[in-house]
Formats: sequence, structure tokens, C-alpha cells
Amino acid sequence: MKGKTIQDDKKRIQEILHRLSNAYQDAPPTYLYFNNPFEMVIATILSARATDAGVNKITPVLFGKYPNSVKMAKGDVEDLAQIIRSCGAYNRKAAYIKKTAEMISENFGGNVPNTLDDLITLPGVSRKTANVVLQTVFGIAEGVIVDTHIMRVTIRLGFSQYDKKPDKIEKDLMQLLPRDRWIDYARLIGAHGRQTCKASHPKCSTCTINKLCPSSEIEN
Ligand code: SF4
Repeated sequence: MKGKTIQDDKKRIQEILHRLSNAYQDAPPTYLYFNNPFEMVIATILSARATDAGVNKITPVLFGKYPNSVKMAKGDVEDLAQIIRSCGAYNRKAAYIKKTAEMISENFGGNVPNTLDDLITLPGVSRKTANVVLQTVFGIAEGVIVDTHIMRVTIRLGFSQYDKKPDKIEKDLMQLLPRDRWIDYARLIGAHGRQTCKASHPKCSTCTINKLCPSSEIEN
């Protein structure tokens, strides 16, 4: 794909999304379980460097005991840490979720804010976390979610050169995609990364977009 232009990439990314939308029609916007915006914020904070499946095992117990921001804000941080122990960095995450619950309860009237600028003021909420909450809970796209799967697949597809730099990858994607495709990109590329374009053994031979991928192990 030598000599490709941004216009070439804009066309290729649309074709890729078209093919993936057929392959992953039922892909969910998130793999985290949640019942309301507060649960989504807390689950997303816990998911940093942890698997969604691991977080999903913890959250029923956590939200059973601390079902809203007021109760979690008053919770004992050591008790919170014990409940979330299996998701890693549990002392730091316990402090984050307690403080986040306090801020939601005191600064935002008990409601999870629905702007990126407000969300990133919450402890433990990165730009990626904020994008996840905005898109899955409110259907608002202020950016493109770049998690570990999306980062890997985006780099393999050649849509960014900034490996391990999610903020820069996000900017590249925002240039290539119209805003009304930002949510779909994360949903479809995330599903593709989980199911086909895996970290260690990408299934290039059966990949529906292998003819559009510069990293394909199959001769095109
Ligand atoms: S062809 Fe291979 S590397 Fe490219 S997207 Fe498909 S699985 Fe991933």
C-alpha cells in the first residue's frame, strides 16, 4: 500500500466497516455488564488492565452492597478493595471508585455527567474510559474509543503509526472517519480484535477483510 493517500484510507476504512458490519451484526457496544450510568462508570474504571470477564465477576457483589454513588461514597475503602481484589491494582482502584462516587454524588447531583470534559475530572476516568461511558450509556460520540483490541487492529490495518499511543491513534481515526461512524468503528473493530485479529495468532486466512489489510499473512 505504498504511496497511499488519506483519501485512499478514508475509502478503505469505509469498506472495512461495511464488511465487518455484516460479520459482527450483533456485536455489543461493551462487554461489561451494567444496569445504569453509575455502574458503567465504576465498571469501566475497574476494567483498566483487567479483563471484562473478570470485572463482570466482581460487579454484582460490589453493586449489591454499594448500589449508588451515595452509598459507595460512604463505603469503607478497605472493604471496597477487598471486594475488587481480583481485578488488580485494587487499592488504587478502590480509592478511585470511592472518590468518583463522592464527586458524582456531591458535584453532579448524583447523576453521571454526559460530557467528556466533566467525565475526565473523575478519578480513574481516562479519555478512553470517558469515551466508553459516553458512547455506551448516552450514545454520544465525542471521540473514538481506543482500547487494547482497537489499538492493535488499527495499527495492523495501517490507519495509524502510533503504536501504544491511544490518544494519537484516536486523532488519526477522527480524521479518517466521519463522526457518525466513530461508535461503529469501536464496536466492530473491537469485535474483530476479540474474535479474529487476536494478539498472538490473527486468523488472517479466514479474515473477511484480509484483502484490505497491509498486515495480512495471506498473499493478496
Ligand atoms: S488480515 Fe490478519 S492482521 Fe489483517 S485484520 Fe485480518 S486477521 Fe488482522
